[in-house]
Amino acid sequence: MRDVVVIGNGPGGSVAAMTARKHYKDANVTLVKREEKTVVPCSIPYVFNTLGDLDKNLFMPRYDEMGINVVVGEVEEIKREKKKVMLANGKELGYDKLLLATGSSSAKIPIEGSDLKNVFFVKKDYDYLSGFLKAVEGKKKIVIIGGGFIGVELGDEFCKRGMEVSIVELLPHCLQLVFDDDFAELGEQKLRESGIKLFTGRKVERIIGEDGEVRGVELDTGERLEADVVVIAVGVAKETKLAKGAGLDVDDRMGVKVDEYQRTSDGDIFAVGDCTFRVSFFTKKPSMLMLASISAYEARIAGANLFEQKRKNEGVIGTFSTGVGDLALSMSGLSERAAKEESIKYVVGVAEIPDKHPPSMPGMRRIKTKLLFNAETQEITGAQFAGSYVVGEIANIVAIMIQNRMKIDDVATAQIGTHPLLTAPPVFYHIAQAAEDAKTKL
Ligand SMILES: Cc1cc2nc3c(=O)[nH]c(=O)nc-3n(C[C@H](O)[C@H](O)[C@H](O)COP(=O)(O)OP(=O)(O)OC[C@H]3O[C@@H](n4cnc5c(N)ncnc54)[C@H](O)[C@@H]3O)c2cc1C
Repeated sequence: MRDVVVIGNGPGGSVAAMTARKHYKDANVTLVKREEKTVVPCSIPYVFNTLGDLDKNLFMPRYDEMGINVVVGEVEEIKREKKKVMLANGKELGYDKLLLATGSSSAKIPIEGSDLKNVFFVKKDYDYLSGFLKAVEGKKKIVIIGGGFIGVELGDEFCKRGMEVSIVELLPHCLQLVFDDDFAELGEQKLRESGIKLFTGRKVERIIGEDGEVRGVELDTGERLEADVVVIAVGVAKETKLAKGAGLDVDDRMGVKVDEYQRTSDGDIFAVGDCTFRVSFFTKKPSMLMLASISAYEARIAGANLFEQKRKNEGVIGTFSTGVGDLALSMSGLSERAAKEESIKYVVGVAEIPDKHPPSMPGMRRIKTKLLFNAETQEITGAQFAGSYVVGEIANIVAIMIQNRMKIDDVATAQIGTHPLLTAPPVFYHIAQAAEDAKTKL
């Protein structure tokens, strides 16, 4: 029987094991997971209020029912010449094909005071997060370093919990790494409306403490913000130690090198997820995008390719949503900022359309839409949406359009469906409207 070993139980490893199981029915598929209890990484912010309990955020696929063996333990070494992996607990597993999905972890960034009590990182680790949850009990003031989506989601949750929240962001706007200013500002406005204080364009010089416990932070402007908890929500490092130890081709910052079939420099070892070296769908240049959806995409490719080349990775598009209060923001592909940085000539189409019809329908919210098309090829290259929580799935529609390289006319004439309670009206469907708007600007 052919042996497949998958290392890692994040979205990458899990989907890779399930895909291998479906594609190679005769194979013996074993998933090695380091931790007894795996948390769902994307919903970590929500354990602090919405879920209110870490045990409601456990990742527990029924691997036994799927015919996937699970081994709990840390892989310490890959012996490529013997085709074996060695675990810290002394176990060893032989493989015909090995799949690395070792992911990423929060990076220790060099801020003075980061080792003080009640300073936390955002770790995908059950025991660490349990300590974090206990530590915030009864606390009043929290400073979050980093206004990316993780910092913003944490801020929103701590605010709903009744805490005084400050977010410090180095860039001029929160969420600026993914959204253009006009959309990022909508998110910031919501954060401010809920009482969160934003310190954008500012850097935390040091974290201040007394008797070993955190008291606040000092900014580069000299301002001091009081805090009884500080969260460092910046910095992610790819987990590539195992791959490096095995002598695979690895770039220290960008990750384990793979080809379009997700094969590493050893044809019997595949890699997927945050730990891998990714390239952009648009430019084929290295990409630092790290999303669970991308890990799952790569895993569906690698899992199918283990013994036969069936699927190819064309590079990462990046599709992502977040929620701030009752406002949802979503995007896919390139923002205007990213297109400019790549010197891609583009044309923008905009629309602002109700998410139900007629607009008098109870609960109606307007969806602000921006689509980007490559001005030379007319292919759709990006989208941003703001409005009700339906925008997450609308960005997903655009992701498929991007992946299929649809042009303005294809987008304007896409055969979408509508319903008064559920969608924008057929006459003014946001994606079609924005495409028509872009067409007039070509
Ligand atoms: C707070 C937060 C919110 C996020 N929100 C979103 C979101 O809304 N949408 C989205 O798409 N992405 C989101 N992300 C990003 C997403 O979580 C990551 O991109 C995703 O977890 C990567 O999946 P992965 O399987 O590649 O790696 P990981 O999730 O990092 O999993 C790697 C696994 O490998 C295991 N492992 C590593 N080394 C070994 C070893 N030697 N032996 C055994 N096991 C090992 C680890 O223990 C871990 O279980 C968020 C991340 C965070 C932290």
